[in-house]
Amino acid sequence: MKILNIQAHPDDAECYCGGTLAKYADRGDEIFYLICTKGNRGTYDRSLDLEKLAEIRRKETAESARVLGVKEVFFLNGEDAFLYPTLDLRGNIMRLIRKVQPDLVMTLDPFLPYEIHPDHRTVGMLTAEAVVFAGFPHFYPEHLREGIEPHFVKELYFYRTKEPNYFEDITSYLERKKMACYCHRSQVIMAGTQRKETTGESGTVEELGKKSFDELAIKISEEYGKQVGVKYAEGFKKFRVRAGHLVLE
Ligand SMILES: [Zn+2]
Repeated sequence: MKILNIQAHPDDAECYCGGTLAKYADRGDEIFYLICTKGNRGTYDRSLDLEKLAEIRRKETAESARVLGVKEVFFLNGEDAFLYPTLDLRGNIMRLIRKVQPDLVMTLDPFLPYEIHPDHRTVGMLTAEAVVFAGFPHFYPEHLREGIEPHFVKELYFYRTKEPNYFEDITSYLERKKMACYCHRSQVIMAGTQRKETTGESGTVEELGKKSFDELAIKISEEYGKQVGVKYAEGFKKFRVRAGHLVLE
């Protein structure tokens, strides 16, 4: 099976579906990433150049993709935290879906209550729209002229979701998920800096940042695991794709 994970920032998938991606890669699925922004504002270091950070985050993504078994990573290079819905962006996401021809697309849930990050809302919504319309030849016909064919995606999974209807047991993949999270060292430092400033906890910013990532990655996995009777699980809102619509399983 071919899987395309479409995310806003280089580290979005790891905490919410890193275990599932590693599991699917091990069973022989081909996994691709599309990352819509450069992630170039994810720092509290005012001396860090935006393009330098974009380069760091590309390298971190390559490491994390290797850990999880992701085959190829594509970028759209949008500006971090400045992504708002446009028809052009929807077309660019659709172009990649048509190019990769995935059976399953995974993305951020744009309907998550209180989701304040514009990049998360935008990417989740435009990806869902692109998924349901990618099979229609009169949407973005320039793709056909570029030699890229319309494509029917079969399923869509939202992650970072509130009420999952599908779970994946990741008990034997938790360590790999954590390793993939830690690959995003710039974000570990960012999370640790904020934690140190706001809680006064002792420890280096790296230790505190890892603690924050662990809390995010493990707590949710434990909670979902309880719901399905395993130690650790990841949860998704799973839909079948129909012409112009999503259908709940
Ligand atoms: Zn993000």
